[in-house]
Amino acid sequence: MRVVACPQCGTQLPWDGNRYRPFCSERCRLVDLGAWLDEKYTIPGPLDDESADTGDVAPIPGRDRRSGPEDG
Ligand SMILES: [Zn+2]
Repeated sequence: MRVVACPQCGTQLPWDGNRYRPFCSERCRLVDLGAWLDEKYTIPGPLDDESADTGDVAPIPGRDRRSGPEDG
């Protein structure tokens, strides 16, 4: 059985058969809805900025790196 945590109160609840999912109850659903309307809610997600400044990882142009020493 798939179990999810209520994003509002964190209560563990089964996903299937829950009419208020992903919330545990109508109360939590309404509270969350009110937060959305107030625009106080931020969407948790991966930071995927298109205009991100690269610097940490840079793609190496050329051939694929081989594993192990290569004596030329
Ligand atoms: Zn809840």
